[in-house]
Amino acid sequence: MIVVMRPDATKEQIDHILARVREMGLAPHVIQGTERVVVACVGDERSKAPERLAVGAGVEKVMPVLARYKIASREVKAEATVVPLGEGALGGNRVGVIAGPCTVEDRAMLLETAQAVKEAGAIGLRGGAFKPRTDPYTFHGLAEEGLEYLAEAREATGLAVVTEVMAPEQVPLVGRYADVLQVGARNMQNFHLLAAVGESDKAVLLKRGFSAHLEEFLLAAEYVLSRGNKQVILCERGIRTFEDYVRFTLPIAAVPALKAATHLPVVVDPSHATGRADFVEAAGRAAVAAGADGLIVEVHPNPEEALVDGPQSITLEAFAGLVESCRRVAEAVGRSL
Ligand code: PEP
Ligand code: MN
Repeated sequence: MIVVMRPDATKEQIDHILARVREMGLAPHVIQGTERVVVACVGDERSKAPERLAVGAGVEKVMPVLARYKIASREVKAEATVVPLGEGALGGNRVGVIAGPCTVEDRAMLLETAQAVKEAGAIGLRGGAFKPRTDPYTFHGLAEEGLEYLAEAREATGLAVVTEVMAPEQVPLVGRYADVLQVGARNMQNFHLLAAVGESDKAVLLKRGFSAHLEEFLLAAEYVLSRGNKQVILCERGIRTFEDYVRFTLPIAAVPALKAATHLPVVVDPSHATGRADFVEAAGRAAVAAGADGLIVEVHPNPEEALVDGPQSITLEAFAGLVESCRRVAEAVGRSL
């Protein structure tokens, strides 16, 4: 349930409600709106009597939350969550672009890519140092060395670093270098990892599992939020269908569906969603037209030589073109980029 405080509720009144919620065995999450405070009460509510909170001083009303994801839901927080990212943000009127190689391969390629994507208008730099690979005999990333190059690229460009963390025990290490912890599609329901990133002070980019329903995706975000980390970015990266002319299928309606269900920023990954460099720009434009708050795009100085995901990686020049055309689409739908 949520407790909606009156606009003039005092700090003492709010603290009293928080204490009462805790006494009831529920965890209170304070959502500070522009006008008033809302307290989301999370936990098993079955035997709890909402009237006991409704009579509290400073309380306007107590309402049930219908969605299973409570803190993530629009019912609890109508205003969009804006997550700061480098020199920009995700979730506001301006569409933000994160770009970079699938995997950090070496220092030179990373710095060259970072410089180019920054000049083209990106606000974040992506690149995996720990890579989840289907085939155990392939390149799995440079680990901490890759993180060092990412941090150096941030120093040089001001781009925020977005990089994947694969296991709970890696969170402290990756968190020392990253601005945003990426949880990959294959780990979307790794509940220990979700809890660990939920306790971090770094923003989290959560990718949708390719066989996850939207509700499962939002419940995965709820794991992170319920641990106290409110900086969650959702990423639609394509789902598995019978179709095989693309690597995955981009369900474009997931964008408005998520935007209606949650206040969290929604970004789209047109690279994994198509698996084909020649489709990435069109899929990115579609995402922006559908209302995405951002894109995360795989870019490589020489895609033919890429160690991972070359077929879906676009060149630095193509990326500059993508940003320009997505900017025109953003403007056409009343936003900027
Ligand atoms: C990636 O971003 O390179 C990646 C591995 O993505 P996903 O988890 O969506 O497959
Ligand atoms: Mn990739």
